[in-house]
Amino acid sequence: MFLDLDCELCRLSKTREKVVAPSGDLGSPVVFVGEAPGEKEDLSGKPFVGRAGKMLDRLLQDEGLDREKIMITNTVKCRPPANRRPKPEEVASCRPYLEDELRGRQLIVCLGRTACEGLLNNKVVMRDCANQTFAIAVGRERMDLIPTYHPSAALRNIDAREGLRLTIRMVKERFPDL
Ligand code: URA
Repeated sequence: MFLDLDCELCRLSKTREKVVAPSGDLGSPVVFVGEAPGEKEDLSGKPFVGRAGKMLDRLLQDEGLDREKIMITNTVKCRPPANRRPKPEEVASCRPYLEDELRGRQLIVCLGRTACEGLLNNKVVMRDCANQTFAIAVGRERMDLIPTYHPSAALRNIDAREGLRLTIRMVKERFPDL
């Protein structure tokens, strides 16, 4: 289902300012999926433009991966009040939009537990699964998925930062043109 900027499928629509649409190259083989927009994203309508986004930018730049050549999106497109985790029913409402965005990708990088659990349909412990490659089905397509640390964890924790850096390095090795 193509993203509706006036979407009212769940109650997050009541408190959001803007629906946050994907950014970057919407035809990229690689998509990074975060959790949910925060305050800056809600105001601008763009994903990962706040503090976590600056951390992601820094790691992408360090590893030579061009933000404009990957696609960046979120599990839910509207900001949850007070930045709480999105609820399962909100994730489910937004799922058709996410599936539409994933179509045609080769590799999904899941930033943090919400994105990983949503797409792997399983509880995860990040340190047990980060930087492993999983094969998943999206509709009739098969694609690879790499779980990794959320950039906001990377702001607080050096191991998370180096884990996320390694993910980005792996993406660059597999897709040197990006
Ligand atoms: N955190 C996310 O998960 N997504 C954003 O877009 C910003 C912060």
